[in-house]
Amino acid sequence: MNILLIGSGGREHALAWAISASPLCERLYAAPGNPGMEECAICAAVDATDHPAVIAFCRENEIDFVVVGPEAPLVAGLVDDLAAAGIKAFGPSRAAAQLEGSKGYTKDLCQEFSIPTAAYRRFTDAAAARAYVREQGAPIVIKADGLAAGKGVVVAMTLEDALAAVDAIFAGSVGEAGHEVVVEQFLEGEEASFFALCDGTTAIPLISAQDHKRAFDGDKGPNTGGMGAYSPAPIMTPEMEERVMETIIRPTVRAMAARGTPFKGVLFAGLMITRDGPQLIEYNVRFGDPETQVLMPRLRSDLLPALIASADGVLSTISLRWKSDAALCVVMATKGYPGSFPRGSEIRDLAKAASLDDVLVFHAGTKRSGDHILANGGRVLGITASGKSVAEAQKRAYEAVDLIDWPEGFSRRDIGWRAIGKA
Ligand code: AMP
Repeated sequence: MNILLIGSGGREHALAWAISASPLCERLYAAPGNPGMEECAICAAVDATDHPAVIAFCRENEIDFVVVGPEAPLVAGLVDDLAAAGIKAFGPSRAAAQLEGSKGYTKDLCQEFSIPTAAYRRFTDAAAARAYVREQGAPIVIKADGLAAGKGVVVAMTLEDALAAVDAIFAGSVGEAGHEVVVEQFLEGEEASFFALCDGTTAIPLISAQDHKRAFDGDKGPNTGGMGAYSPAPIMTPEMEERVMETIIRPTVRAMAARGTPFKGVLFAGLMITRDGPQLIEYNVRFGDPETQVLMPRLRSDLLPALIASADGVLSTISLRWKSDAALCVVMATKGYPGSFPRGSEIRDLAKAASLDDVLVFHAGTKRSGDHILANGGRVLGITASGKSVAEAQKRAYEAVDLIDWPEGFSRRDIGWRAIGKA
C-alpha cells in the first residue's frame, strides 16, 4: 500500500517510524514531514489546509490510505473530503472531531450521557460569565470553547485571575476560539492521559502514558505542548483502565454513534483521577504529542492494520500486543519556548545520540540546510529511550540528550520523576 501521513511533528515522526516498518507499507509519504522523517518517508510539500491539493496528490501518487496526525485538519473536515473523493483515511469526521473542536460540545455530551466531568456553564456573553464566576468563587477554570493550541485554558486560583481570564478571552486573546467560554469547576487529583482506538462502535485501549506539560523541572513554569512523556504510567492500573473504559470511553463511543456522528480514530482523554474516580477534563481526537513518541516504541504489533481497521469499522478483529519494556521521551526545545524564541541555530551530533542502543531521535521543529540540521520551532526534538524500567529508560534518554551539541536548546532534567518516585 502507499500511505500518506499528514503532519510534521514528533508525533508524526514516531507514527512514520512505526508505519514504515509495516510489511503492508510499500511507499510512505509525509506532508509536509520533517528532516528526521526523510529516513523513513518521502517528504512532500503539500498544504494540508488545501484539501483539493491533498486529494490531487493522493491520485497522482496512488495513495491507498491517509493518516491524519494533527487536530486542525480533522476539525477542518479533511477526512470527510477525502472520503467524498473515495480515499480512505484514519481519523474522525469533522462532526466527530467536535469532541476536540468545541469544549462546550463535549461538556453537553457528557451531561446528556452521564459521563463524569467537572460541573460547568457555557457563555457567549462576558457579563453573564463574570456574574457566574463571582457566584462560584475561586479556584475555578476558564476555557475558550474552540481550538487554541493549548493557550485557551486558565486554571484561576483567585477571583481576579478568573475575571481577567474571562475578559481576555472575550477580548480576543485566542481569536475565534474564544467566541464562547466554558467556566468549570476546579478538579483536584493526578492527571493522566488515556488513548483508545475507535472504529465507530468498538474501542480498544492503547497502553498508558503520561506527559509533562510544564516548561521547567519540578512541573514549574508555564504550560507547553509537552516537555516529555513516559510509559507505562503507574496511576493507570488495569482496574483504573477498565473504569475509564466503562465510565468514559465506551459511553462516549455509544453517544457519538447514537447522535449519528460515529467516532473513528484515536480518542485521547485528558483525565483527572480524583478521590471520586476518573473525570474527563477534555478530549483530543488524535494521537498525543509527545505521548506517541513513547507509545510507538512499545508497540509489538503492526500499527498499520489497526489504523486501517479503525477506518473500516472492524477493530474487533484486532488485538494489539505491547512490549513490557518502559519508554521515556525527553523533549528538547529552543531556549525561550513557550515564549518567543529564535530560529535557525545549528544542532550537531544527532547521529551520535541516535547510535546509542534503544534510543530513537524523533524530529519535530527542525529544518535542513544542506548537511546541517537547524532548529525551526519551539519543541525541536524528542529523544526517546527504552529500558526495563522507567528509571532505566530515563538514564538512557539523558545519555543521548547529553551527546547532542545544541547550546541554544534546553530540556527538563526530571522527565518521569513521578513514576520513578513511585517505583
Ligand atoms: P485542557 O486543555 O482542557 O486539557 O486544560 C489544560 C490543563 O488545565 C489540563 O491539563 C489541566 O492541568 C488543567 N485543567 C483543565 N480543566 C481543569 C479542571 N476542571 N480542574 C483542574 N484543572 C484543570
